[in-house]
Amino acid sequence: MKTFLKTLVLLFFLALCGVAGYLFFIRMEGAAPQISVEGLPRLAGRRFSFTVRLRDSGSGLHRVRVLLLQGRKHLLLREETYPLSFWRGSSIKNVSYRFTISPLEKGLGEGPARLVVEAWDASWRNTLKGNQARKVFPFALDLTPPRITVLSSTVYIARGGSALVLYRVGEKARSGVRLNGRVFRGYPLKKGIYAALVALPVSDTTVREFLVFAEDEAGNRLEIPVNYYVQRRRYPRVRMRISDGFLQRKMPEFLSRYPEAQKEDLLKTFLWVNQTLRQRNNQKIAEITSRPSEISFTLQGPLKALPHSAKRSDFGEHRFYYYRGRRVSQAWHLGLDLASVAHSPVPAAAAGRVVFADYLGIYGNTVILDHGLGLYTLYAHLAGIEVQPGQRVSAGQIIGHTDTTGLAGGDHLHFSVLVQGVFVNPMEWLDPRWVAHRILDPLSLYR
Ligand SMILES: [Zn+2]
Repeated sequence: MKTFLKTLVLLFFLALCGVAGYLFFIRMEGAAPQISVEGLPRLAGRRFSFTVRLRDSGSGLHRVRVLLLQGRKHLLLREETYPLSFWRGSSIKNVSYRFTISPLEKGLGEGPARLVVEAWDASWRNTLKGNQARKVFPFALDLTPPRITVLSSTVYIARGGSALVLYRVGEKARSGVRLNGRVFRGYPLKKGIYAALVALPVSDTTVREFLVFAEDEAGNRLEIPVNYYVQRRRYPRVRMRISDGFLQRKMPEFLSRYPEAQKEDLLKTFLWVNQTLRQRNNQKIAEITSRPSEISFTLQGPLKALPHSAKRSDFGEHRFYYYRGRRVSQAWHLGLDLASVAHSPVPAAAAGRVVFADYLGIYGNTVILDHGLGLYTLYAHLAGIEVQPGQRVSAGQIIGHTDTTGLAGGDHLHFSVLVQGVFVNPMEWLDPRWVAHRILDPLSLYR
């Protein structure tokens, strides 16, 4: 009987020790909660968001306070008290709060501010108040959008045409021009003045949106409309006859180069080339010529096209293809076709840098030159590749010879001009008066 009692007391004692030990480790733990903040900008604008994360793997989180302080202004963003259980402390081990702040609505002003996060865990330490953590995150508020001045008075633009927009931005900001949803980069000239070459694609019949925008580091954004005048320009619809001779002569080149080409019959091959391959090639050209120019603007006068040549096709022709009297396909012709004697040397239209020199589907052997400010020229159907990407060329330097590679019926040069990824009418850029009045004279005021 005595032994039984002894065992009972011993067991009771051991259980008591276990409970005390458990409570000691869980409810008396000494690790304070961990606090972190994600996404709080160093310079915040008129609307900003961030996330506060709290973690306490010991006794859990008991109380949390998130405050925003500026001068004497105290904003309590969030205060939470989580329930506790005697045995386990708090069941909240991890918590995150997302905040979106509009400082003006909260009565905050510009200048330095602080985010303060305080948290207490469910430990019994500090006379049952728990372990406290407190972190201060300093940042600054900038609520003023950048100032924009459009320096170009009225911008003249035509369908398929180019234009220069000059503007000034009052502070360091990301800026550019938006025309019908497309963004055109502005290149810095001097003291906050930027030049943006813009273009209205030939397929856009109206201007829906034309503005200069600037956004500073804090996300403050301003948009100023550009004064513009749209010049009417019509483009011809052209009937193109596809003969069996043409298909037999041209399709083998594509069948041998593109295993994915339709090979059921030559017409199907042509349709694949004229639609799928053309779109793929144009996308590649747009991608290359949308990249920022790596050289400063090289033009000192108009572009120079193939000398002693006759124009065989215009830019902007809407071509409808007929096979045995039936309309089978359509496409926009996005360059000039210039014919001279076969294998004529092709000069660079202006000084520039080679950004592409390779075979490119319907364009055959192709060279693309960068002339600065996002202006590019393209030379297609060449005999071979005679220049290297990265190479600098001077105006008039021979970059290749005319031929019939790609989708060309006869020996000619297909010459395209691109502005920040958009095919534009080369006739403007070949016109000395247009280039002087619209581009070089205005630029010379700020260079
Ligand atoms: Zn062409």
